[in-house]
Amino acid sequence: MTTKCIDIQCKRTSRAICKCCSRDLCLQHFWQHNDLLVSQINLLKKTVNDVDARFQFLDLSKSVSQFRQDLKQSRIDSYAKIDRYYGLKSQELDRLVQDQVNDQRTVINQLKKRVEEFIETEYSKQDEIDSIKTRLHDLNGRFDTIEKAPFSMKITPLTIDESSIQFRK
Ligand SMILES: [Zn+2]
Ligand SMILES: [Zn+2]
Repeated sequence: MTTKCIDIQCKRTSRAICKCCSRDLCLQHFWQHNDLLVSQINLLKKTVNDVDARFQFLDLSKSVSQFRQDLKQSRIDSYAKIDRYYGLKSQELDRLVQDQVNDQRTVINQLKKRVEEFIETEYSKQDEIDSIKTRLHDLNGRFDTIEKAPFSMKITPLTIDESSIQFRK
């Protein structure tokens, strides 16, 4: 039993089977089929070489340099934020110290004024004198505390959110 060539318009019998695609072909169409395959493979080879050549000279430097620039800017902005925060806390510390000084100053001024009045009028009660003595003693105790540590301070180390800069493919 003979098999026809796979080409619809061809009346010839098949003389060969292409091992690549298992088609029955007459000799003429077999060579045509072969030429087509060979030319496709050659074209493919050229295309692969073209892609390879382009890859050899692929220049990522421009886009990477922009990313690097953005990273650097982000670092500068972060430092600026830390500096601003440090500045604010430094001012807060100054204010707290000043408040402490002012508070004690007010108390001392009151006591001095009262003592001056005693001297001017040459009049004072023993319990008033004792009260001022006690307050002066307390003040000295307060100064001891202030000299050691006027208030407490807690510093939590700054944590960096690892997800704040992300690369996505
Ligand atoms: Zn074939
Ligand atoms: Zn044929």
